[in-house]
Amino acid sequence: MRARIPAASAGDAALAEELSAPAVDVRNLVKHFGHGSVRALDDASITIRRNEFFTLLGPSGCGKTTLLRTIGGFSVQDSGTVLLHGAPLDGLPPHRRPVNTVFQSYAVFPHLTVARNIAFGQEMQRRPRAEIAAGVAEMLALVKLDGLGGRRAAQLSGGQLQRVALARALACRPRVLLLDEPLAALDLKLRTEMQLELKRLQAEVGITFIFVTHDQHEALTMSDRIAVMRAGRIEQVGTPQEIYERPTTRFVADFIGETNLLEVLRVGPGRYRLASGVEIAADASSATEAGCALAIRPERAVLVAPGAGLLSGRVQQVVYMGTDTSYHLTLDGIGPFRVRGQNRGGASPVVRPGDAVGVALDPDAVW
Ligand code: ATP
Repeated sequence: MRARIPAASAGDAALAEELSAPAVDVRNLVKHFGHGSVRALDDASITIRRNEFFTLLGPSGCGKTTLLRTIGGFSVQDSGTVLLHGAPLDGLPPHRRPVNTVFQSYAVFPHLTVARNIAFGQEMQRRPRAEIAAGVAEMLALVKLDGLGGRRAAQLSGGQLQRVALARALACRPRVLLLDEPLAALDLKLRTEMQLELKRLQAEVGITFIFVTHDQHEALTMSDRIAVMRAGRIEQVGTPQEIYERPTTRFVADFIGETNLLEVLRVGPGRYRLASGVEIAADASSATEAGCALAIRPERAVLVAPGAGLLSGRVQQVVYMGTDTSYHLTLDGIGPFRVRGQNRGGASPVVRPGDAVGVALDPDAVW
């Protein structure tokens, strides 16, 4: 006799849907400000996977904060929807959403102790005292502030305050943590330290982090994936390596890191002609028009003797930058071009402004 398999209930189906859905699904968000004059979000859609460190990156005013605030429920979209683990969030106020936010300005209560600050959210939720105490101890250890629970927040450094803000946001066990430029107020050294710390924290707690920054270094260092935004739209989504090495638009190539953009004409499959007449081979499958631009990162070009290499030009400026040196050139018949070389003692080329040079390119340097 065949065993009878019970039919899946509507509840099972909903659970299965919840378990397989992405952490956050942003669909076609549109948001205007100023009676319609500013389009802060312009049909923005992204899918953020579970336990991802996902970064929204873009220049000031591109809509990063508006997008984050819409996910958090602090801003209401004109149209479009946000789903969290498959369930629509529309209409839910911020405190009813299983997300928490860490702001740049810490928002830590200075008159309360570190422990009371961390316990705050759980106290609001009226959790049992023992559970709150255990949670505080766990969070203090997580953000490496053990032993400081009794200290007033007003007596902490900037880095320590940001750790308290993080611990407080994580103590409520949100499904998604939203971080709005949380490191912007810290000095460079502390900021670098906290970048690694945040990455460690995220891996340890296994919560989806959505991080907003306009700092490309920060985004490249910390993220599993990055969405580059421009004028309310998502320009490209990819891993740091994809975004840096394979930008799909001129805007992304220009915004992320330093890049040389050379105007070219397509003269055959995978072949492009520069203004100087030199032909160059490139895998530029995203280029759809005869006229387009090739992107070459300065560190993928190498200075060689005049006459050697594909390109030639003259040195205008040599800028020593510690770990590397940036050479500002003018390419013959083309215009400005930068080459960046690592400083390796005697191995670095000695060139001076005015020198004629050749430029060789790595085989897959051109995009
Ligand atoms: P930044 O990095 O400078 O914080 P951002 O990418 O986070 O910028 P948003 O703060 O989302 O950008 O702003 C997007 C656009 O919407 C900007 O043009 C901004 O001036 C406008 N904007 C944002 N909030 C409001 C508001 N409350 N009223 C009017 N305009 C707003």
